[in-house]
Amino acid sequence: MCLDENILDRIKKYSDGKQQGPAVLELYPTLRCNSRCLACLVPGMPKDILSEIPSERYLEIIREASELGVYICYILGGGEPLCRADLIYDLVEKIKYYKMKGMLTTNGMFLSESLAKIMAAMKWDFIHFSVDGPDAYIHDQLRGVEGAFERAVEAIRSLNLWKKRLSTDKPSIEFNTVLSARNYHVLPRIFRLSKEQNVDYITIIPVIIHLEKMQDLDLNNIPKEELLKSLRETREVALALKINSNIEDLLTGRFSQTGVNPITPGMLDDNAKDEVKAPPKLVDICKAYCLKPWYHLVIQTDGGVGPCCNFQENECNITNEGIREIWFGDYFNNLRKLMLNRQPPPGCLKCSQTLQADGNRRLVEKLSKSIS
Ligand code: SF4
Repeated sequence: MCLDENILDRIKKYSDGKQQGPAVLELYPTLRCNSRCLACLVPGMPKDILSEIPSERYLEIIREASELGVYICYILGGGEPLCRADLIYDLVEKIKYYKMKGMLTTNGMFLSESLAKIMAAMKWDFIHFSVDGPDAYIHDQLRGVEGAFERAVEAIRSLNLWKKRLSTDKPSIEFNTVLSARNYHVLPRIFRLSKEQNVDYITIIPVIIHLEKMQDLDLNNIPKEELLKSLRETREVALALKINSNIEDLLTGRFSQTGVNPITPGMLDDNAKDEVKAPPKLVDICKAYCLKPWYHLVIQTDGGVGPCCNFQENECNITNEGIREIWFGDYFNNLRKLMLNRQPPPGCLKCSQTLQADGNRRLVEKLSKSIS
């Protein structure tokens, strides 16, 4: 069963009154980083960068996640997860011990040959490399560190080597590319690079302008025709080289150049109800503002918990409560109620349409089909 099917199955069971744990557990082990990316949002976060959940608690969290039937754990940054390399070695081992799927996002600079071998041997599921340029000149500028490109490519080479030696197609290697005014014109070349590196998928993420100093990255600075020309050329490269990506979503306009959600939090739908009685019908869940509170649990670096990475001011903290208490407790129940009433909570103001529209639209389409 793939992730979408797993999520839909949970939502259907929830609608039948059966309690369901989250399908996705997203972890941000650290905000520390070995890069200085121009598009990084960490400097704008109201967080203590050194406030991190202890490693022992992380290992309990993975056990709790497995007991709740979590389908996949994402290890992301924030900062660079491999700045806590000892923890990451333990985390990936525990995640696989409990037979969950796993995804690690990294800039690749600390991904050693020994870790590449371990990940291939354990058949880790996905490694996402943050790659913003087709060469050292562009990538290193955007990542703010000399040598970043060389080290990332070396890590990918090591992984490919170990996959071949161990005759496995795992981990799947993917690129996450932040699209900005500084690299939109080289996107076709990034796709060509991905082919050379045996990359299975590219996710293009339009930059979100979090801070004043990021203005020169803003895609709004680029004439629309010029941007579209590059995206169309990229689609041709993707088709010719058979590269899987979300390029089509970008070309069909399903992304925001500003990243600012056009809907004001707290805005009431005309048909909003005063009270939502549980369990809601599937048709009502299909109309929810966002489905994340039904399947997605994010644990921030300091232990704050929310339905997605945009929730920085967190009411619940994993250092005081277990996942089960939080997921089935008042905070998440209230979030579900707000989404059903189409009253998005304040965290949703910072949502990019890529994050909300893409995931939500795809799931709602599938959910609607399954009940029609
Ligand atoms: S910020 Fe976006 S993705 Fe996150 S819960 Fe709100 S609408 Fe959903």
